[in-house]
Amino acid sequence: MSESQDKLRGRLAPSPTGALHLGNARSFLLAWLSIRSRGGTLVMRMEDLDHPKVKPGTAEQALDDLRWLGLDWDEGPDVGGPHAPYVQSERIEKYRRALSRLKDVGMVYPCTCSRSDVEAGQSAPHVGEDGLRYPGTCRDRYDSFDEASAALPEARIPAWRYCVTDEHVCFVDGFHGPQDQHVHTTVGDFVVARHEDGAGYMLAVVVDDAAMGITEVLRGDDLLATTHRQILLYRALWLDCPQFIHVPLVVSPDGRRLAKRHGDTRIRSLRDKGISAEKIVGLLAYWCGWAEWGEELTAQELLPRYDLAMLSKEPAVLTDDVK
Ligand code: GLU
Ligand code: ZN
Repeated sequence: MSESQDKLRGRLAPSPTGALHLGNARSFLLAWLSIRSRGGTLVMRMEDLDHPKVKPGTAEQALDDLRWLGLDWDEGPDVGGPHAPYVQSERIEKYRRALSRLKDVGMVYPCTCSRSDVEAGQSAPHVGEDGLRYPGTCRDRYDSFDEASAALPEARIPAWRYCVTDEHVCFVDGFHGPQDQHVHTTVGDFVVARHEDGAGYMLAVVVDDAAMGITEVLRGDDLLATTHRQILLYRALWLDCPQFIHVPLVVSPDGRRLAKRHGDTRIRSLRDKGISAEKIVGLLAYWCGWAEWGEELTAQELLPRYDLAMLSKEPAVLTDDVK
């Protein structure tokens, strides 16, 4: 194994808030193929910080569905590994330390604004879920955390926002090419934690990808626009940025993300109907342009066909004939 292969590390990072369906299964398959086709190491990480939305049994089901599809990983909640624990709710101490480093360098400030905005920071803001730009109301409002706390009713604690600098954040995406966002004018200062021990998606994903030595993040392109914020955090915490690759989603004919109303595309339901894993992998491969319509394939058999350049920049459309 060459040195670069030895260091290549990717991850699968499901949130146990909803069932695995054809759409996110395709993104996971791509992340797996990208790493496995080059002999790298794969990490499975469960992103369960959004407690109210976490459904019991969903995490186990997701792992089971992914394994059934033929994917595997070298480190994870079920197999252990040098970077355990692989479940975010068990890594709170690490996020607290990162928050404290951000406080030390003056890059976060306490915010007493709306609770819904702060709660939204718990999960990954997929396209259309980002809300309005935060105008920076609390940036210079308080001299200390205690002063901010005093401004709130007893039961509430201030949240922590990252102080976004006035600059363009640029990176080259491995699929979509050069990206540029002026985070200050698009989203403004974003929430990193609900409270000391309440890190949200944006901080946790950066801390974990860095701590787990992840060198490649391949995920759905509905998270493309969050990457600039993550890069700001990598820089503020002096961490190495991974290479980012954002792949198109599978959408419904109306162009939206797959949802219940588009029919039941949950892997679990397809399994229950007696559809084979090879048939599903074949369909996912067909959507990537790597297989004929109706071809049946294992994930392993797909490895030599993996070629991101053949993937359409447009989302794959779930048409009625596949249901
Ligand atoms: N766990 C996040 C989600 O499922 C994705 C995180 C990521 O890939 O950065 O929405
Ligand atoms: Zn505020």
